[in-house]
Amino acid sequence: MKIHEYQAKEILRKFGVATPRGIACFSVDEAVRAAETLGGKVWVVKAQIHAGGRGKGGGVKLAKSREEVRDWSGRILGMQLVTHQTGPVGQKVRRLLIEEGANIAKELYVGMVVDRITQRVCLMASSEGGMDIEEVAAKTPERIHKVFVDPAAGLKDAEADEVARRIGIPEGSLAQARAILQGLYRAFWESDASLAEINPLILTAEGRVLALDAKMNFDDNALFRHADIVAMRDLDEEDPAEIEASKFDLSYIQLDGDIGCLVNGAGLAMATMDIIKLYGGNPANFLDVGGGASTEKVTEAFKIMLRNPDLKAILINIFGGIMKCDVIASGVVAAAKVVGLKVPLVVRLEGTNVDLGKKILAQSGLPIISGSNMADAAQRVVAAAKGVH
Ligand code: GDP
Ligand code: MN
Repeated sequence: MKIHEYQAKEILRKFGVATPRGIACFSVDEAVRAAETLGGKVWVVKAQIHAGGRGKGGGVKLAKSREEVRDWSGRILGMQLVTHQTGPVGQKVRRLLIEEGANIAKELYVGMVVDRITQRVCLMASSEGGMDIEEVAAKTPERIHKVFVDPAAGLKDAEADEVARRIGIPEGSLAQARAILQGLYRAFWESDASLAEINPLILTAEGRVLALDAKMNFDDNALFRHADIVAMRDLDEEDPAEIEASKFDLSYIQLDGDIGCLVNGAGLAMATMDIIKLYGGNPANFLDVGGGASTEKVTEAFKIMLRNPDLKAILINIFGGIMKCDVIASGVVAAAKVVGLKVPLVVRLEGTNVDLGKKILAQSGLPIISGSNMADAAQRVVAAAKGVH
């Protein structure tokens, strides 16, 4: 699950991470009042969307008067903000963060992710802040410093100080940087985050260290123990089909191709998308119905997939181990009848109750194209999507 920058900063502040003062707003009037409440002479008007790169996309602006706050807020609120992370359509801005302006001397980077190889939280830090960290990692990897944090000890003072020195924090500001790094680690750990990033972490002209931006993602499997974080969910930022899928506990990711995939098991779903690509097609979604799906769940999965207007063909690829082929077949038939199937449907079934499953599909009267194995099914669905039968 993702949250907005202002929400991530709220969490981080609870763990002692210093940030600029700011107020989240939903209207231009609120934004102007927020600037008045904050006081000072310079404010930053920041679009709140679940994507980075807002600065380059025109979603982060400095304002030097209340009129400028009003002006920028009016332009940014409601705009369709396009960044390298939103895709070409962009994301509509519905919330703003008004912050006191900071006097930036240096922009640094700190981030944390779970490293699966060492099974530890990895702290990454760089003197190259404010820009794409992916680019730094690709071109100058020696400028990224890493610490794999021992979960029993937490991030030690010496480790935090060492990293802070390496990214250019002066001795006089070391204590502040240590508080931020250790606060970030504790926030990450205690909220079951999957990613936490401060880009940029800044050093101000006055020698203060501040988290100027903040991003946090959380492990969905741990959300049951974080009601306060779940309350921060913003459904406006999520794909409607993915929200619908999450209600039925289905793993669904909308993609930009035209071949719908309904598969059991995440690994097989990935392999199915790969083989579609191999034969020249493009998957419209990732969909894993799971191992023990009921007919109802399969029906819902099918309906969600069919809502995609770009859909030109569907591939159902099932290996029935725990999942029984007849359950899948019944779900497909039920859903196809409810929604009225208008695109070609290729099915590859294998495993438990496969004969019964095939019989249910054959007797349904639906125009189903049968695939004898994965490669065959993939080739048939790619052809069907292109209108070749
Ligand atoms: P992102 O583009 O979505 O990552 O948004 P950020 O919050 O990182 O802001 C982008 C850039 O705006 C930062 O890297 C800064 O250069 C600039 N910026 C943000 N806040 C301030 C501020 O208070 N003062 C100044 N001078 N620049 C700021
Ligand atoms: Mn940023």
